[in-house]
Amino acid sequence: MPPNIPTHYAHHDGSSLLIGNRWVERAFSARVGEPFITSSFVNKTSNRDYVRTDRDYARAGSREFCFSIDGNEITGNDFALERIEIHDERDPIEIVAHLQTKELKENSQSSPSSLISLDLHFLIYSDHPVIRKWLVIENRGDQTIHVTDLDWEDLQLLVDSAASAEVWSDYFTRRNKSIIVTMDDCALLVNDTLHHEGFILATEAPGPLKRMNVYGQPGRIAIGLNRDDETIFERVLAPGEKFQTPASFILPFAHPIPQDVIEHEYAHFVEKYLTVCDVAQVPTISLNTWVPFLSHLDSDLVLKQINLAAELGVDAYQIDDGWYDRLGDWNTNDLKFPNGMEEIAEHCHARGMRFGLWMTVAAVDEASGVAREHPEWIARDRNGQPNRHPAPGTITMCLDSSYFDFILDKIDSVINRYGVELLKLDFSSVRNVYEPGRYPGCFATNHTHPSANDSHLRIVERLFDLIRAIKQRHPRCLIDVTYELYGVMDGTDLALIQVADQNWFTNITSPNEVNFRREVYQRGRVTRPWTLNFGGTVLEHPNAKTYGIFSAFAAHGLFWGDLESLDEDLRQHYKRWFAWAKEQRAHSDFYRYYQCSDIFPVPDGVSSRDYRHMIPAARFGTRPLGIHPPAFDPSSQHPGEFWDGVARLDERGEGPIFVFRPGASFSPYFQLRIPWVNRDTHYHVTNATRNTDVGTFTGAALSDQGIELHIAQPLDALVIVLRQVDNMTG
Ligand SMILES: [Zn+2]
Repeated sequence: MPPNIPTHYAHHDGSSLLIGNRWVERAFSARVGEPFITSSFVNKTSNRDYVRTDRDYARAGSREFCFSIDGNEITGNDFALERIEIHDERDPIEIVAHLQTKELKENSQSSPSSLISLDLHFLIYSDHPVIRKWLVIENRGDQTIHVTDLDWEDLQLLVDSAASAEVWSDYFTRRNKSIIVTMDDCALLVNDTLHHEGFILATEAPGPLKRMNVYGQPGRIAIGLNRDDETIFERVLAPGEKFQTPASFILPFAHPIPQDVIEHEYAHFVEKYLTVCDVAQVPTISLNTWVPFLSHLDSDLVLKQINLAAELGVDAYQIDDGWYDRLGDWNTNDLKFPNGMEEIAEHCHARGMRFGLWMTVAAVDEASGVAREHPEWIARDRNGQPNRHPAPGTITMCLDSSYFDFILDKIDSVINRYGVELLKLDFSSVRNVYEPGRYPGCFATNHTHPSANDSHLRIVERLFDLIRAIKQRHPRCLIDVTYELYGVMDGTDLALIQVADQNWFTNITSPNEVNFRREVYQRGRVTRPWTLNFGGTVLEHPNAKTYGIFSAFAAHGLFWGDLESLDEDLRQHYKRWFAWAKEQRAHSDFYRYYQCSDIFPVPDGVSSRDYRHMIPAARFGTRPLGIHPPAFDPSSQHPGEFWDGVARLDERGEGPIFVFRPGASFSPYFQLRIPWVNRDTHYHVTNATRNTDVGTFTGAALSDQGIELHIAQPLDALVIVLRQVDNMTG
């Protein structure tokens, strides 16, 4: 494109506003005193306008946004444009449209003094096909108002016809004609099968507050906050108060393989603007104590394990649950660790390993000092009883109370005392994922939140404030938020990864590697794979040697196991592979990349998310046993029938490709096409599992014909490594 044409732009001529870049242009009717509404959304690659006004199904027209004030619905049509601000000296350009409520409707039941001002914020980037949007709602009246049923994006947006439109949900792995998702997906893809184009819709709303509606009404898409599932959104605004909504974005594409858009345009944007964790900070090999030791830890055991871990080349050793006296007090258990956690941390540090620890944020022991001294901070259910996590004897404190300052100081002092560099934060805060419907939010009346529904988002916002405050004080410490703390079974999303480094999003252990590869396959393309902690391959399990450890390398090397139970051969084996992973990362950091295109299928394991969609035992009045009741069993076995895998190649087409033959697979052969290379370059391919050369190929041959792979037995895996021929020293 000629250099004098700006790469991204925003123009307001008094009657319309245009914002765009090389790939996308969104136009608005924008006359002062009139509604400010999107009038076109053009995919510039195809030149098609997705805002349809010429069809019956679109006759409602776009509303731009929609929410209720004290139960009365208002939309973009109820507001008038005041002025537009454009900050075009920046990249991204920021556009703010200031709106005011129009004269009040005759029949409105809302207070005559209700007056709302709204700022619509848009960002347009020079180098990404993305328009991002959020709202700031301000109560300018003299009465308190209740904001509910909020969609800050509400458009008629359809490529062509409903007949050719499909919506990809469940982390881009299921096709639907329409869908309303709460809690689970943070991104959906609309694909037009006739024109091979469409758009990705992504929300940055957090955890259980997410909601997206695509074609629940004909042609309409809406992105907002949860209104119909347990943690329902409400924001009570006193006069003068403001509320900033989360953001969302729309990314149009024109491409015959939508998976490639997910893995390129979408992934690049998410990595650059929405991922706080620097991949270079992620340890190559982490070991966590939870399996097989659970809480049964003591210093003799842990010191021996640390020595063995150091010999294997483990980079980070993390003590999970079981090291403290009481949740909430956070002193070391002297009976188990007579010389304190200091001894354990020093032992790790002296061997060149990072020291990691587990804590809870909101769950405390009923017998802890804080629970006894500050019952006023306890999160309450609708009957006034304490909210609970299913671990016996624990109650949940409300982060939207002064408990916030208490726990921030506690976590801060624990990190300081032991030099913690990997902090796993666990258990319930906004809801207990194991007992759906039982403890949503907080009904206490003496906390900051004015209502129970108002507590849902506020508790998540306080959790994020807490993590930001910890990170500011301890920039070297990786903060890991578990799905239990976040409040969504197997949940991760674009809100979490903007705040926390990592997300322990599920507990899947050997021999269920195909299940966790499925989970990583889904989430590793929606959020970046190095942000995902997933449980772990158990190193002493018979599957672990190749199948298990390569499954972990599909995300990053996170392991469980009793290292004393490994024989010398197995130790040498792991030592070699851990060193191999470090060499690969040093050449080009394969943890950054995750490619499947339309080559690798979704691993056909069980998604533990599916269990959440089953009818939970609690609905039958049965109290679930333990923290993994049968209705949510994440370790259900399914051996998998179809070969799967992941390529982790850099921009030059160099790096490893992991390929798996699952337990119920009949075929020992798989023809692997490799399209993630430069067609004109020559590549040398080695089989790192067998230490053999596969051969030298042009990129075109790898891409068009591929190579035949052989794995003799099920439950085995291999890794091939690609290098450009003139770059083979790496
Ligand atoms: Zn509360």
